[in-house]
Amino acid sequence: MSRPLFHPVRPCRVWLARLFQCWLVWLLLVPMLASARDHITERAWQEDPSNALTLEQVRQRPFTPYEGLLSRGYGNSAIWIRLRIDPATNPPSSLTDQLVLRLRLSYMDEVQLFDPLLPSESSITRPSFSYRSLNRNFVLPRGEAPRDIYLRLQSQGTRTKAIEVLTLEETLEHDRVQEAVYATYLAVLLVFLFWALLHWLSSRDRVIGIFAFKQTLAFFWSLSLLGYVRWLLGEDAPRFVALMVVAFTAASAYFDYCLFREYQPPRWALRVLLALIALLPLEVALIYSGHISIALRINMTATLLIVCWSFVISLLVRPRQGPSAPPVPPWGLVVFYGVIALSIMVTTLMLLGVFHSVEMALHALQVHGLVTGVIMVLFLQVRAQRLAQRQAQVLTELAVAQENAKQAQVHRLEQDKLLEEIRQLAFHDSLTQLPNRRLLREHLQQALHHNKRGRHHSALLFMDLDKFKPLNDAHGHHVGDLLLLEVAQRLRGCARASDTVSRFGGDEFVVLLNDFDFDEATAQQQVQVMAGKILDSLGQPYRLQDDSKAEATLVTHHCSASIGVRLFSVTENSIDELLDQADAAMYAAKVAGRGTVRFHASAAGGGAAPANSSSNAPHLSRPGG
Ligand code: GH3
Ligand code: MG
Repeated sequence: MSRPLFHPVRPCRVWLARLFQCWLVWLLLVPMLASARDHITERAWQEDPSNALTLEQVRQRPFTPYEGLLSRGYGNSAIWIRLRIDPATNPPSSLTDQLVLRLRLSYMDEVQLFDPLLPSESSITRPSFSYRSLNRNFVLPRGEAPRDIYLRLQSQGTRTKAIEVLTLEETLEHDRVQEAVYATYLAVLLVFLFWALLHWLSSRDRVIGIFAFKQTLAFFWSLSLLGYVRWLLGEDAPRFVALMVVAFTAASAYFDYCLFREYQPPRWALRVLLALIALLPLEVALIYSGHISIALRINMTATLLIVCWSFVISLLVRPRQGPSAPPVPPWGLVVFYGVIALSIMVTTLMLLGVFHSVEMALHALQVHGLVTGVIMVLFLQVRAQRLAQRQAQVLTELAVAQENAKQAQVHRLEQDKLLEEIRQLAFHDSLTQLPNRRLLREHLQQALHHNKRGRHHSALLFMDLDKFKPLNDAHGHHVGDLLLLEVAQRLRGCARASDTVSRFGGDEFVVLLNDFDFDEATAQQQVQVMAGKILDSLGQPYRLQDDSKAEATLVTHHCSASIGVRLFSVTENSIDELLDQADAAMYAAKVAGRGTVRFHASAAGGGAAPANSSSNAPHLSRPGG
């Protein structure tokens, strides 16, 4: 019977909604807390394509002022940033004798800080602050007067940066909020992941399995992106991050490929998708040969192509109709890929620095992760529910079909039983259950065919009980029946399985014995022996227990039989003639005084009359004798 389908998603959906609400609340809190006063009064930047300039050289070159976020997209050139710090922005307090430079988004970055108040303007490449932060937080002396500090940064990731100089209290506050927001984000990713895993475990759906794998990669990538890897290991692991990113892209493309196969798009369209996946080994090779930024740029291009191409494919699909149609209609696919394409476009443009000074650029990847995660979960949820409905329907139909088949089988068995009963009634004697005349005739026919091939001899033994009627008259028909049953039993005991013992009617039995010798004389002797055995067996006393009356009585009876034998091999005679001839021989045995065997003299032998024989001193009829 159908097993109840497991829906891990229903409780998950509630949790998902709650977590999403929490995340929105945090998002609202961040700008509120961002109202802290920044000590930076001027920002300016310049690019160093040679990557070789020193601080002194940079100072001689012109800087470009900017406001808010620095958005320089991706690139190999080092960026120099000049920041004017005014310590008078906040009045000093017990905790504000130190300032903190907060640098976001800072994964896969190499950062150097130059501050005139630090000993001999030495560069600091690692944060010296005592608590670990998800950001690059550099501790600076507060100083008395406004001063310029310089940052040199080179990144394998995006060069979209937010830089603030805050007091220690403000930094701590901001970092705590940021950690809570990031943790909530990771929790949402985990919810997506567990949703997919639970679904995959219950359904083993390939598409959901790949989604789970993709979400696993997304989770680890996010750990790096948000600074957890550096937070845990003390430094970035750029190779690990890059591998996560390219593997994620390949898994996404494979997910699209598997999903599209349900919709039967043109084959060439799917091949293009596979070709984009085939870039993976190249990207991995580049990562291992130290060209991480090239690999990531190829990957970003591939990601854009995959998403756009997937959207195109969603417009080209021509799915099957009917029961094998995909669970979500094609327009659902268009919406799905439309939203994802839009989201990735906006995210990419933000990371490339197209929208200057937009704080959201710092959260673009997370927002994209959430948007695509939610839409994918929704899409897959609808798909899974429809598949489950379809599966339930198929199971119900299967159960009905099984029930019908079971009933048909029962019906067939009953019919077979009935047929067997009819056959039993039609071909067997109702008292002794021995084959009746009709079945005997069939077996006789088979014996004639058999003999034609093998030239064996068979014998028809026609027997009639002697003086049976008086038993009936003396003790009633019931006792007569008991005798007939006992006779049937004894005859069965004398015959082999291949022989036929039949009740011909009344007290007449006909036994068909097969496979006697090829030679007629030898066969006749063999039959004579058999007939003698039968006579001996039937001649034994009968003890008939009559239970039909109130008081059971035991009747002891002695009885003999007269047997007429017709021996035959290949014969021109019909079945009726053979039976008549055996009957005639039996009659001759009766005339000869009963309890004897008489053979019919065969046509080949020329004699028409049965030859005499007795059980005690057999006179065998022989051909021509
Ligand atoms: P004979 O030696 O000449 O064979 O004489 P018989 O007494 O055996 O008489 P016969 O063979 O002519 O008759 C057979 C009798 O068997 C006639 C009938 O009353 C009786 N009979 C026939 N069918 C049944 C039966 O099914 N059950 C019983 N108990 N008796 C039957
Ligand atoms: Mg009789």
